[in-house]
Amino acid sequence: MGKKTTHKFKAEVSQLLDILVHSLYTNKEIFLRELVSNASDALEKVRFKSTSEGSEDTVTPEIRISANEEAGTVTITDTGVGMTREELMRNIGTIAHSGTAELTRMAKEGKESLDSLIGRFGVGFYSVYMVADEVTVTTRSIEEDAKPVKWISDGKNDYKLQELEEDVARGTTIEVKLTEEMKSRFANEAALKNIIKKHSNFINFPIYVGEEKV
Ligand code: ADP
Ligand code: MG
Repeated sequence: MGKKTTHKFKAEVSQLLDILVHSLYTNKEIFLRELVSNASDALEKVRFKSTSEGSEDTVTPEIRISANEEAGTVTITDTGVGMTREELMRNIGTIAHSGTAELTRMAKEGKESLDSLIGRFGVGFYSVYMVADEVTVTTRSIEEDAKPVKWISDGKNDYKLQELEEDVARGTTIEVKLTEEMKSRFANEAALKNIIKKHSNFINFPIYVGEEKV
């Protein structure tokens, strides 16, 4: 396995994470909507690439969600474009989206709900820290010869990156280690199914929870 490196979140990201973790009134189940929406975007990018290059992708487009009650985890896997090491750093880490500072300011004002701000400012991934102690992203980009990479963070100050030597399917897997408080609510496939039906029924790719297609 490649060397593990540690990277500090940019200040705006840390501030946003702090707000998310301490938000008492936000509907925490939206974390799943945001992760599924990212999975769908990643699948859409594959579709677009295949169409524009006139090539056919051999991987089945799908989103799979599972829960492990004992471990208290929820895992979301997609067969989308995946991310290179550089993309991981750019998209979820050191470099904040331009609007993050503005979002933080508006969240503090409290005039607009955090749920709506998260959607509007495109920072959905971080909403996972409303329910998680630790998140692990394992991903392999569609780019030729891309090495699989693992990103891991407790959502506090920094994240760790490591290139993997083993085979990883193309796409992205996000393992969410739920906080003690959230385990009973979300480490349960029946509950996840309901959340998917409620918030993600417009998604254009097949979504499985456990073995069942939702
Ligand atoms: P947004 O989706 O509005 O761009 P997010 O915070 O939800 O904001 O995600 C940030 C970025 O991280 C995405 O734009 C995308 O580049 C990357 N990303 C997140 N999840 C995935 C995924 N499952 N597959 C590929 N890229 C992803
Ligand atoms: Mg998103």
